Amino acid sequence: MKAIKFFLVITMFVLIGCNTNQKPLEAHENSNMNTFQFSEIVDLTHDFSKETIYWVTAKEFELDVVAHGETEHGFFYAANNFTTAEHGGTHIDAPIHFAEDGQTVDEIPVENLVGHAIKIDVSKKALKDRDYLISIDDFLNWEKRENMQIPDGCIVLLETGFSRFYPNKLKYLGTEMRGPEAVKDLHFPGLSPEAAEWLVKNRNIHSIGIDTPSIDYGQSEKFKTHVILLGENIPAFENLTNVDQLPSKGFTIIALPMKIKGGSGGPLRIIALVK
Ligand SMILES: [Zn+2]
Repeated sequence: MKAIKFFLVITMFVLIGCNTNQKPLEAHENSNMNTFQFSEIVDLTHDFSKETIYWVTAKEFELDVVAHGETEHGFFYAANNFTTAEHGGTHIDAPIHFAEDGQTVDEIPVENLVGHAIKIDVSKKALKDRDYLISIDDFLNWEKRENMQIPDGCIVLLETGFSRFYPNKLKYLGTEMRGPEAVKDLHFPGLSPEAAEWLVKNRNIHSIGIDTPSIDYGQSEKFKTHVILLGENIPAFENLTNVDQLPSKGFTIIALPMKIKGGSGGPLRIIALVK
């Protein structure tokens, strides 16, 4: 059964990765997605519950139990209703979140959400400084260490180490307060606007993710990193977990959000296939 599952995933990648005019085998050989074989699946998703962390001004997750028990016809039946803001827990920011002409979540090409990925680990610095801004040097240092450029068309994940604090709001966000007045008390690391600008001008990435509540750091007032990345139709994944279990390169991401028509974002199930 396990072998069958692996075969299905591999087939899926060949289909996604190839031009329909090509034979699947050629697509497999020509593609730089040579990460089809994997030995481990890492779930990078927090579950949704009463504890799920939302932006301090967003409506939190609610689950209403509609049914849970034996019916009069003798079978068990369970069903719930849920409500959620788009931006909370592990979720995606669609480009339109900060770019008027940007793609809505249903319009993001799946090619931007599935593919080869790298990880930049800045956790040593970020755990010493809650307001740490990931810099151009952090990207250049990764390239020097790995002896390669950030590959074309890849998904970049940023590890700050902050998911270890989740779901403790004080440690993860910097405050337990909610509402507009709590925004000034947010302290968590993020990607500097300069590094975002460098990425979009000098490298060609498909999407980006981080293990904090926002791709901009907590003290951001203008959300410039969002504006820069989403303005280039590069979606952002936020509130990731288990990023520490990933290598720095050579893995594949599958990040499939709820396909909300016209949505500015939405709940995301994201996994990594690791060799
Ligand atoms: Zn968001």
